[in-house]
Amino acid sequence: MSTAPDETPRTLERVGEAQLPTKHGLFTIFAYIGEGVGEHVALVFGDPHSRRKVPVRMHSSCVTGDVFGSLRCDCGQQLELAIQHVTSSGAGAILYLDQEGRGIGLANKIRAYQCQDTGFDTVDANTTLGFEADQRDYAPAAWILRDLGITDVELLTNNPHKADSLRENGITVERVPLAVAPNLYNRRYLETKARRLGHQLPTTNGHDPAWSQQQRSFPTDEHLHA
Ligand SMILES: [Zn+2]
Repeated sequence: MSTAPDETPRTLERVGEAQLPTKHGLFTIFAYIGEGVGEHVALVFGDPHSRRKVPVRMHSSCVTGDVFGSLRCDCGQQLELAIQHVTSSGAGAILYLDQEGRGIGLANKIRAYQCQDTGFDTVDANTTLGFEADQRDYAPAAWILRDLGITDVELLTNNPHKADSLRENGITVERVPLAVAPNLYNRRYLETKARRLGHQLPTTNGHDPAWSQQQRSFPTDEHLHA
């Protein structure tokens, strides 16, 4: 779902800013609230204005993956890889977006998992519950980037729709894939995202149970097409 540049973000407002020391380094965290668009935060590392292209991850919240380390999806691994990429680059931003479960919310995501446990794939589970396959809206993220003075990004994602949505909202985007090794539990989910949602998953040397240091790499589109 995309939104015209002058629609939803108009209701968004920056409401707070603070220093946030983390195990990954010192970030500045910005909070945004918008009527009907949830509560989002942006974690900024270093001075993004020192970079012509700013490394950015637009990460949709995933409590199960990001907090509890769920292996049903690849969110936690993608978030960690993105944070490492941003900090090793010296500057960048992580946008943590309030759109759990591709926009259906946490409780509905667990209901969708229940459907998947009976054989549905991630797309059919969402549509069976009456939702679209992907209800996310990246217009607020584009608004936040502009608010931070970031208009040219190196977007860390395997989802071309995210890149397209930012471009539709006035951001210059170069997409950089995140290579996450599949595991026993998310292999079918990742295949479904590639086959039915258009995600472009870079190949990795990974094997179950996934994710060791040497599997963390950041191939560019150029590398993938070489
Ligand atoms: Zn997830």
